[in-house]
Amino acid sequence: MDSSHVENDLVNVLFTEEQIQDRLRELAGEIEADYEGRDILIVGILRGAVMVMADLARSFSRHLEMDWMAVSSYGSGTKSSGVVRILKDLDTDISGRHVIIVDEIIDTGLTLSWLTSNLTSRNPASVEICTLLRKPEALTMPVEVKYVGWDIPNEFVVGYGLDYRERYRNLRDIGTLAPHVYS
Ligand code: IMP
Ligand code: MG
Repeated sequence: MDSSHVENDLVNVLFTEEQIQDRLRELAGEIEADYEGRDILIVGILRGAVMVMADLARSFSRHLEMDWMAVSSYGSGTKSSGVVRILKDLDTDISGRHVIIVDEIIDTGLTLSWLTSNLTSRNPASVEICTLLRKPEALTMPVEVKYVGWDIPNEFVVGYGLDYRERYRNLRDIGTLAPHVYS
């Protein structure tokens, strides 16, 4: 669905499908240049990163491998606690591999900070992070993000894989959720 189908639920459209595709093509270009001559394994974090993975991967003009992880943050409410549990681990042995973790959004950065050290302990050749969106709070976390689509304000956004109670993931665009939806 596109934003016209959920018009009343959104305060605004932050990024259209076209803008997202353009930005992912730019990021893929950057990554290709940085990893010239090296094999890449991109690791998508389920479930939010499904759309980013699908479109980012197809923006490459070279081979790469894809794997997936599912993690859950302990703790209630909308804030992550920083304690992370692996629900689905990689199928790939990443020792000696160049790994890029792909996520749709970094909020506090706690999840990716934990995940980075977890994957680093498996002796990969390198681990970097690529995220479509990043919120300001993440900038204060000890997590180094090499590839960022956009920095956004500290508001709750949905679409393009991002959900509110499992809805809006299939929205083509990314928009700011209207407060009346969650109050
Ligand atoms: P954190 O960086 O550990 O705080 O966790 C980031 C995760 O929180 C993301 O992978 C999303 O699942 C979720 N999240 C954070 N901000 C938003 C948002 O604005 N919309 C939807 N999900 C969000
Ligand atoms: Mg996520």
